[in-house]
Order: sequence, then structure tokens, then C-alpha cells
Amino acid sequence: NPRAINPRSVYALMPTPTSTPARVRFAPSPTGYLHIGGLRTALYNYLLARQTGGAFILRVEDTDQKRFVADAEADIYASLAWAGLHPDEGPREGGPHGPYRQSERGRLYEEAIAQLIEGGHAYYAFDTEEALQAAREAAGGNFKYGASTRMAMRNSLSLSAEEVARLRASGAPHVVRLRCPDDETISFTDLIRGPVQFASEALDDQVLLKSDGLPTYHLANVVDDHDMGITHVIRGEEWLSSVPKHLLLYRYLGWTAPAMAHLPLIMNPKGGKLSKRDGAALGIPVLVHQYQEAGYAPEAVLNFLALLGWNPGTDEEVFSLGELTEAFDLSRVGSSGTQFSMDKLAWYQAHYFRARPTDELARAVQSACPVALSTAQAEAVVDLLRERVSSIDEIVGQTYLWQAPDTYDEKAVSKRWKPQTPALLESVKEAIRAMPESEASAASFHGAIEQVVTTAEVGFGAVAVPLRIAMTGTMAGPDLSALMAFLGIEAVCQRIDQAITRLGG
Ligand code: GLU
Repeated sequence: NPRAINPRSVYALMPTPTSTPARVRFAPSPTGYLHIGGLRTALYNYLLARQTGGAFILRVEDTDQKRFVADAEADIYASLAWAGLHPDEGPREGGPHGPYRQSERGRLYEEAIAQLIEGGHAYYAFDTEEALQAAREAAGGNFKYGASTRMAMRNSLSLSAEEVARLRASGAPHVVRLRCPDDETISFTDLIRGPVQFASEALDDQVLLKSDGLPTYHLANVVDDHDMGITHVIRGEEWLSSVPKHLLLYRYLGWTAPAMAHLPLIMNPKGGKLSKRDGAALGIPVLVHQYQEAGYAPEAVLNFLALLGWNPGTDEEVFSLGELTEAFDLSRVGSSGTQFSMDKLAWYQAHYFRARPTDELARAVQSACPVALSTAQAEAVVDLLRERVSSIDEIVGQTYLWQAPDTYDEKAVSKRWKPQTPALLESVKEAIRAMPESEASAASFHGAIEQVVTTAEVGFGAVAVPLRIAMTGTMAGPDLSALMAFLGIEAVCQRIDQAITRLGG
């Protein structure tokens, strides 16, 4: 029974989250720009560090030279800075356990390899790519380099000591592999998923040191987590299958494993794992910098990500970073996949956008908009639109604010522009022209409309709707009188003239 616990099981001694300071790390590989799911991982690590008064460490796992992307580290830094998740230790910050790039930590990996070989837990393997390929073919695609096959391969377990010495002296290409136990159940308790077990037969003799002399992820990750005093590993579910190999390494190196928490997968709305390709097809940006460029507030993105997997156990949904630090609890992170929803993110975005102070929004509008605006004008724009939009780009994109409409919505015109409309709008113009410039407030514009409505004995909409079409080109838009006050008497009259000329009677 593979689920029964073997007496020789490996039990990692794991601390549970406590009030003692947690040392956690965010350990991205610089193989591309930071993914939105990576930002969630960073956030959960950050929250545990801050809530326990511990340290949030950035470690760059750059041992895969083939997939290395030169500016990925800069993007990771820029994305974390945008989100406000500042590392306490890292490649730029330095710290007592540096260097923080794996490519600069070779000596530590060599020492660990020497110790593993010495203890009989790792061995040299000289198999050529062709030999491995042949073994795979012979096994019909089921080849596993492990207990049942390793003696048939060319390695320091199967070859004589003299042959191994000769091969090493001649500089023959080789890797170092982990010698996995034949028949063990490897168990540990994940802080999110509870007890998890793995049968060692399912593992292969993992390559620890590649033929280019660089460590694989597994070796470097374990050595560094130990060396950096990491107390909790928080990472995506895709790394769960690496855990048994890591636990064996901890045991063979005589180290205590950190506590581990594997976060639920982030699913796209169709139910699959959110990938770059799905993201593009479903209109979900996958990279953090795309959210920044699209004008999302970092607070909104963080709040959204915090609840993508974690639930506070109450109905509360809005949390600042400080509040998250208080409330976050790893044990309330679910283990099943969690669905990414752009609608939910939009809700957070709207919330945080509306909560920003008027003067701050006004300054942002001033610098983003195509025409020069006074502070008062920019504040008027913010007041007009704050409740209707959720980003500065959306405000600036309301072109009717800056120029008369180029075109008029055909449906709106055919439904609401009547033969008597031009005469009604001429009356509005007269009423407006009679207003002193200094009184051109929303209330006065509203009064002017009311006056025409009363005199002509028509419904309010008979005047207001075509007037709105004249101002914006459509039937939609912010409060009409307030919009007219923002545009001013001159522009309002010009727009009425233009609409009458173009749309006729
Ligand atoms: N370097 C791994 C990554 O790219 C980190 C996995 C871990 O946190 O152990 O995500």
C-alpha cells in the first residue's frame, strides 16, 4: 500500500507559522518578466515576513543559462517596487547571506555536492546524451534513471573506482546525480495542503550538478534556503512535486527543512491554468508591468491578489497592505485552484481609484491630458467622472471633454433628434447667452434648460437628450449641467451650432 507510512519515512521537522520572525524568500528565475501569479507569491511571502517582524528576501535563481533573460531581474525589481513590496535582502539590497544571485554562489553548491558524494548520496554519471536516448527508447518512453536502472548506466556506482578516476582526470563530461532511496514513503505536512506523501520509487536520480558545472534548481534551492536561514517556503503548487527531492537533500546534508506552503494554481475563467497564451486569448494580461501600464492602482492589484487564494473568513474584501499584514493567515489559504477574474479586479480598481484624493487625481489628469488644464478645470473633470471611470486613462479618453464631437451616434440621433430640436436648442443658447460668464455654474446651466422646458411645454428629455448629443456625440456621459459648466458658455454654444448644422431639423 503506497499510502502507508513506511517506518523509514523522512519526517521533516517543520516549524509552523509563529510569532517568531519568519525569514522568507521570493525566488524567481530570471527567465522572463514577472508574472501576475509571481506577484501573488511575492505578496504572501512579504505578508508573512512583515507580520512576524521577519525578513523578506529576494533571491534570483539564475542557474539556467539557456533560459536566462538579461533584463528580467530589472523587471522583477521594477514590478516589486511598483507594488511596494520592498525586499529587506537581495541582489541590490545586499544582506548578511549574500550574494543573492545563484550564479554567484557556486562555492556553496560545490561544498554541498562534495558532502553528498562523500556520504554516498550522490554520484558522478558519465552517460552521453546518445546513451540516455537509447535507454529511453529501449524502455518505450518509460525510462527512469534510478534504483532499477542505474547499475546499467555509466556512473561512479557501476564503474570501477579506477575508471571513474580516469574519466574524471580526462575531463570527461559528467553530471552529479542524487541517489534516491528505492522504497520509501516521503511525507511532510504542507501548511496549506496538510499531510502529503510521495513514494520514492516515483522519483528519478535527479541531476544536481549539470555538465556545465552549474547546479540544478533543486540543489541550489535547498542549499540557499538553508544558508539563508529560510524558515518558510511559500511558492506555487507547481513546485510541490519537487518537495520529496528537496526533503532527501535536507536529510542527506543533515539540515532541517523549512516549513512549506504551496499556493493554489491560478485558473483562467475557462478552468485551465492561467497561461500566457490563454491570458492573451481571454483578455487577461499576464505580466505585472502590463497592469502598471494599463493604469491599475498597485493597491487594487495587491488587494485582488491577496484574496486570490486567501480568504479572511469574513465578508470583508477591502484591505490595505497594512491591513493585509494584520489579517493574512497562511492557514486560511485554500488548496484548490482559484479563479482569476478581471471583473473582480475592475471592482477593486474602481474602489481604489475613487478613494484617491481629488488633488492627486487632478494632478494626474493634468499631466496625462492632451490640452493644458488649470487646477480648477482638472478638479472639475475629476468631480465629473470619478464615479463613472476607474483610471486616469479612462478620464483622458473621454474626448468630448477636450474637443467637439467629430461624429454623432446614429442610433441616438434617429431616436432623439426631432424636427423641433434645433428650435429648442436655439432657445437654450439664448438662455445661456443671457447668463453672465461669472455665473456659468452647473446650477445656472440647469436653470437655463429648465427655463426652455417650461416655456416650450415639453419634457425635460426633449431638451436634455439632444443637448447631450450635441455636447458628447452620444446619449451617454456625466452629469449634463456639470459638463456644460466645465466646457463654458462659448464651447457649449459652438457645439449646439455645430450639431444643428450637421444634424439639421
Ligand atoms: N526559481 C523558482 C521559480 O522560478 C522558485 C521556486 C521556489 O520558490 O522554490 O519560480
